[in-house]
Amino acid sequence: MGIPKTLPSTQDTIAAISTPLGEGGIGIVRLSGPKAIKIADKLFKGKDGIPPSKLSSYTIHYGHIVFQGEVLDEVILSIMRKPKSYTREDIVEINCHSGIVPLRKVLEATLECGARIAEPGEFTKRAFLNGRIDLTQAEAVLDIVKAKTELALKTAVSQLKGEFSRKVRELREEIVEILTLIEAELDFPEEDVEVLRRDELLRRIKKIVAKTIDFIEGSKEGEILREGVLVLLVGKANVGKSTLLNRIVGKERAIVTDIPGTTRDSIEELVNIGGVPVRIVDTAGFKKTENMIDEEAQKRVKEYLKEADLIIFMVDGSSRLTLEDRKIARLIGERRALALINKIDLPQKLSKEEVKTLINNDTEIFEVSALKGERIDSLLHSINKMVLEGKILTGEGQIMANARHRECLKGALKILQRASKALGEGLGEELLAFDLREASALLDKILGEAIDEDILNRIFEKFCIGK
Ligand code: GDP
Repeated sequence: MGIPKTLPSTQDTIAAISTPLGEGGIGIVRLSGPKAIKIADKLFKGKDGIPPSKLSSYTIHYGHIVFQGEVLDEVILSIMRKPKSYTREDIVEINCHSGIVPLRKVLEATLECGARIAEPGEFTKRAFLNGRIDLTQAEAVLDIVKAKTELALKTAVSQLKGEFSRKVRELREEIVEILTLIEAELDFPEEDVEVLRRDELLRRIKKIVAKTIDFIEGSKEGEILREGVLVLLVGKANVGKSTLLNRIVGKERAIVTDIPGTTRDSIEELVNIGGVPVRIVDTAGFKKTENMIDEEAQKRVKEYLKEADLIIFMVDGSSRLTLEDRKIARLIGERRALALINKIDLPQKLSKEEVKTLINNDTEIFEVSALKGERIDSLLHSINKMVLEGKILTGEGQIMANARHRECLKGALKILQRASKALGEGLGEELLAFDLREASALLDKILGEAIDEDILNRIFEKFCIGK
């Protein structure tokens, strides 16, 4: 794997507390690097008196950590010798038992003995630098650490297995294959053989373009799993938007209540609906006045409408339709939506037929009571189904692209599309080869095989220390 030469050397031995610092304070101090075992020799006093350097790989041992005559903790020590370890370096894990203070002391002792504190993500970075995992797999580790729902976790695990990388490699191979043929032709012009007919060339490039488009679209689903589906609640004032949001949040475990960027009177909640992270935005939170026609509010609703994956259009079943209902329905237009007739616990003045006149034919209509919690389950079930239907399945073979991957894929697509268009108009082979090389370089970038240190650092910084 082509690792940039400017990367920092991995000659240091790094150490960190690799478990979250919770109440219990039980945790693991992890060491990785050439001196890991030597440091363990200095600190670990095993029950059977054998120093770690004499212990075989993948064994665990009971003993104490003793530093400058003081017993710091009772521990279990495990040894994983290179190259069969997470980082492909010697790794020692010290499982401490007595709480946070000894845990810190053990870490400090390893630093005194020659380790340095690990940067965030540095263990995984080393796994990458030592060629054990590629960059998409390293990023998957980050996703696993941060996965908000089970489905997202499953997907990240499949990425860790290399599913995503495999597809990127496949795409790159196809480009390189054409490139090789063109270059052969360029290298031996005197042979005057046309290795590839132009129409054949065009056909193959178009096929790659189509594949890349599919790939990018599929990866949007990955993004949904990670970031959450954006569901927008719209409807006139007092139709029951906030009530519904509270009902859903109360029902489904709210994953995060404090989403950065939202204010105290939060209008956005992230909830877990059947394994799918769903961000629900209550547009009632936008308005300063009770008037939906308020300009500022409308502007923001429009912005959200563009972003939304699904819109819930609410009307009040206990009153007749109003001009406002119609205006809002027009704003929604052809976007994917569900209609909700709320307040079914009150005497009804509105029929499904009337609501149908406002919305697309295929829009499902639900009758609920947000206040009493009636039929909310079937609504949630339907949201979940809409997200998963035919597209986002159980994670097996699922691809998962983050913003960086998508950026590279889109860049490659743009170049390929340009090349295919120019080829149709008689583009010379030198230029075509140039484009193909550029597209393949962008795919390399996803895998981390041609990446600069800056990007690498940005990726690994997102990890927490000890990973
Ligand atoms: P918003 O302006 O759309 O956010 O509406 P709110 O959620 O603030 O609700 C407005 C009023 O309608 C409140 O008094 C709610 O208690 C009431 N409300 C909301 N949902 C229902 C419902 O299903 N049935 C009844 N009877 N009242 C409801």
